[in-house]
Amino acid sequence: MTYKIAILPGDGIGPEIIAEAEKILSCLQTEFGLSLECEHAPVGGAGYEAAGHPLPAATLQLARASDAVLLGSVGGPRWDGLDRALRPEQGLLGLRAGLGLFANLRPAILYPQLAAASTLKPEVVSGLDIMIVRELTGGIYFGTPRGIRIREDGQREGFNTLIYSESEIERIGRCAFEIARKRARRLCSVDKANVLECTELWREVITGLGREEYKDVELSHMYVDNAAMQLVRRPKQFDVMVTTNMFGDILSDAAAMLTGSIGMLPSASLDSRGKGMYEPIHGSAPDIAGKGIANPLATILSVAMMLRYSLDAPALAVRIEHAVGKVLDDGLRTPDIASPGTRTVGTREMGDAVAGALRSGA
Ligand code: NAD
Repeated sequence: MTYKIAILPGDGIGPEIIAEAEKILSCLQTEFGLSLECEHAPVGGAGYEAAGHPLPAATLQLARASDAVLLGSVGGPRWDGLDRALRPEQGLLGLRAGLGLFANLRPAILYPQLAAASTLKPEVVSGLDIMIVRELTGGIYFGTPRGIRIREDGQREGFNTLIYSESEIERIGRCAFEIARKRARRLCSVDKANVLECTELWREVITGLGREEYKDVELSHMYVDNAAMQLVRRPKQFDVMVTTNMFGDILSDAAAMLTGSIGMLPSASLDSRGKGMYEPIHGSAPDIAGKGIANPLATILSVAMMLRYSLDAPALAVRIEHAVGKVLDDGLRTPDIASPGTRTVGTREMGDAVAGALRSGA
């Protein structure tokens, strides 16, 4: 079977890191017989420059027609002055909405070689491997009514609506249970059921799912304030966490920082049929764009996630992850993860090294 991949490099360091991920894609084809048909399209600021919109119609069409999307990053100061609807970040939101990507998967994995890069003590974080499953298309970020209005007493007030239907909760819950099944079979659902009715329903629905369909997964519940504390206190207690859009936004950034290296973390956003968009969690890093020093590993690890969740090739995903581990073992580091006793390399050399390690393991 030939898989169609939409490649959207985007802005800033996006094209630099995507070029390295493409070395991995071509190695998968030449060495491992994976059949891919890759097509490029502009998004973000590049989309605006090419077609006057951060998500050109042709880009969305290509993404829709593909089995998976590999995205670099979008944004940059050059486009900050544009109307909100034309800013690069709208390209990303448009893709999520246009493709129905309701589940955001963010692993926070600490490579043992990088334990010293975390701000937490090595014994607290070494061996860390958490998967945060965040609901991505609902909740307070999308709920209506919303806005800023003037009250009768003349004061302005801002308001938003936190809303989830049973089916939305069930859909993300099922996704998280399925992922937990493929890991250590432990799922922690994070809510604020003691204060918010919406998440009282969240807890009820997730509990029902666990009881009726996923008895083999150990389910626990945690209030979000406690979850934030536990993430920095004893993060290794978690296997898979599932939560709402806003709580997931905040907790996944905290979890990412436990690993100390924004340039290392991939992500996946999935629809209900396994189609997904894969991207590093970091942005377009305008401060280092064009310097050839960006860390391409988060993007390369996003390719591994793509193989696991959209291309049905988990064994190849493991090979990529091992190749990254091998390169780190060899002491190669881009500047963001460099430490004494390691060899600092640029974006291209890092990509070449991972492709080489992948090839030699073929
Ligand atoms: P950022 O993630 O781009 O950068 C934060 C810091 O991390 C910078 O110092 C940067 O140099 C460093 N960094 C990021 N990725 C790196 C990598 N691969 N290797 C080495 N260092 C890396 O966040 P920001 O500066 O807040 O945002 C810059 C632009 O990116 C903004 O326009 C923002 O809107 C956009 N952004 C896009 C995405 C996305 O495309 N998914 C996500 C976040 C921010």
